Amino acid sequence: MNTALRAAIAGLDRPLGFRELLTPDGYNPKLKKGRARGYASAILHFAPADLSGYDVCQYRSAGCTAACLNTAGHGGIIRKGQTTNPVQLARIARTVLFFEHRAIFNDLLVDAIEQHVRRSIKRGLTPVVRLNGTSDLPWHMLKLNNGRTVMDTFPTVTFYDYTKHPQRAALRTLPANYSLTFSRSETNDDDVRRILARGGNVAVVFATGRTRPLPLVWHGYRVIDADRDDLRFLDPRNVVVGLRAKGKARGEASGFVEDPDADTACWPIDPERDCVAHAA
Ligand code: SF4
Repeated sequence: MNTALRAAIAGLDRPLGFRELLTPDGYNPKLKKGRARGYASAILHFAPADLSGYDVCQYRSAGCTAACLNTAGHGGIIRKGQTTNPVQLARIARTVLFFEHRAIFNDLLVDAIEQHVRRSIKRGLTPVVRLNGTSDLPWHMLKLNNGRTVMDTFPTVTFYDYTKHPQRAALRTLPANYSLTFSRSETNDDDVRRILARGGNVAVVFATGRTRPLPLVWHGYRVIDADRDDLRFLDPRNVVVGLRAKGKARGEASGFVEDPDADTACWPIDPERDCVAHAA
């Protein structure tokens, strides 16, 4: 971190409220799985929805808000008698810094990505970055202090995200180093159908247990097991990106979490159902 940035942080009217802007993959078992394929992921976690007082998820549904990944893993561990935890407080602090002190946030982001790149290369891994870990912001449009986007500033780094923004997911003009996967909710079935019909990918959360297999096919499209790693930019095209419900999503009943035993899904072991997927 350079001296000017240190001085800017020292001048804030309150402490940053977090130690790291980007969470390295060692803290997240699923991200860590990417190392086996030669990648090191770093992820930015904001406080999702409007938990910080700023809404960072324009197209969120009631179901995804209630079942957000924010409550998976360490983020969901709250001690008896308490209402929050340090992980949640750090996510709120990052979000507030983004909205209230953008120049400092931008410098910290550049610094954190540079550090992630250096560390990854040292370990013989390819650095990749997911900025919407628990948010849905248009990073391909937001300008850093140099007047360029983060993708333009780091052209050799691959960025990837999930989004519920239907237009953004369908954009053909995204930066070459930015990969987006559209994400299903209980309110966007038309967009899901349109994006799959046009050859895109859609992430679907299934009420499937941690050790059970996902359906083979959903609505006629091949399902891949996206819990094997987080490297969505390596996925084949025109597939359903299958995820198992985690955190509060387990037992969620709004329709955000899909029933793997519904007629729209089928299993390789079920001889009663036609398990042939569309050709991609
Ligand atoms: S699931 Fe995504 S869009 Fe929904 S609240 Fe969480 S981060 Fe926001």
